[in-house]
Amino acid sequence: ATPAATMVGSTLAATNGVLFKGGDVLEQVRGIDTVVFDKTGTLTHGEMVLTDVEPVGEPIADGGAVAGDGDAATGPEPDRQEPLESFVLGAAATAESGSEHPIARAIVEAADERDVAVDTPTDFENVPGKGVRAETDRGTVLIGRRTLLEDNGVDTAPAEETLSQLESEGKTAMPVAVDGQLRGVLAVADEVRESARETVAELRDRGIDVVMLTGDNERTARAVAEDVGIDPENVRAEVLPEDKADHVDVLQAGDGPTAGGERETGGRRVMMVGDGVNDAPALTTAQVGVAIGSGTDVAIESADVTLMRDDPADVLKAVNISEATISKVR
Ligand code: ADP
Ligand code: MG
Repeated sequence: ATPAATMVGSTLAATNGVLFKGGDVLEQVRGIDTVVFDKTGTLTHGEMVLTDVEPVGEPIADGGAVAGDGDAATGPEPDRQEPLESFVLGAAATAESGSEHPIARAIVEAADERDVAVDTPTDFENVPGKGVRAETDRGTVLIGRRTLLEDNGVDTAPAEETLSQLESEGKTAMPVAVDGQLRGVLAVADEVRESARETVAELRDRGIDVVMLTGDNERTARAVAEDVGIDPENVRAEVLPEDKADHVDVLQAGDGPTAGGERETGGRRVMMVGDGVNDAPALTTAQVGVAIGSGTDVAIESADVTLMRDDPADVLKAVNISEATISKVR
């Protein structure tokens, strides 16, 4: 494109809330054949709300801190005599109070609303893509993916039915353990952005393949994919933060697992759309990285395009403007 055409295109895009980082990007966008969407915060609002608190197991009858009947004789800390449900939520919220993850914020907010005591953890560790571990007044708390608990010697099998049920509803469900004991399951949910469905449909109509990439579990990811119209085989779930860029690489370079012999044979021209710190390397790796405007600074810095209105439909706008601008000068 001529500098003038590029200027016109970029300006037109900017008035539509689509910020291109330089004229080259307009040309890059034109050739893309695959759009990879992050799930949380990109296809969805990323504003999680706590939906479920499910205690697992029986309250400890004597000597435990979780006896539910408020009988001061049964526990060492009378002020901590609380029903298992409050205990689980309070322990989780205390652990999460050190995290800025949308899941963490939802849990802390719910505890506050329900007047469940949230303390300051004495020690806190964020395990990226997996959850948190913290030392709290209620004990050592683990909350997050099943693997986080399993890696720490906690069997999550007793919670499996509850977890699976919540996940098939499209919720993100997390087991909670305190002092090595499985105590309950929390679930959070997030709304799909209004334009996600029509955007996916229109991209597919144009022959652009649509893929979902998420750290969330398979069942939840598939439920959301079905909701927005993404093929189940195009869902890449349970992807660790450090592996997101690899998935983009595989699509582009084609030196990845092609065992099934299906379409994952690479050579794609990928546009990656994301919002999180986790997405930054994938945004850089993709031919075109697109950041959600309300996303993290790192995502915006790593991207070639920023969608100021947080609207997935603006992905189409970027494609349209790029096509119009580039074809005019050919
Ligand atoms: P996404 O790719 O969907 O943005 P993340 O990579 O941030 O997700 O997290 C992947 C999964 O790890 C979450 O779905 C959740 O199960 C777990 N997880 C991450 N952070 C936390 C946290 N602070 N508390 C509980 N679970 C968490
Ligand atoms: Mg995200």
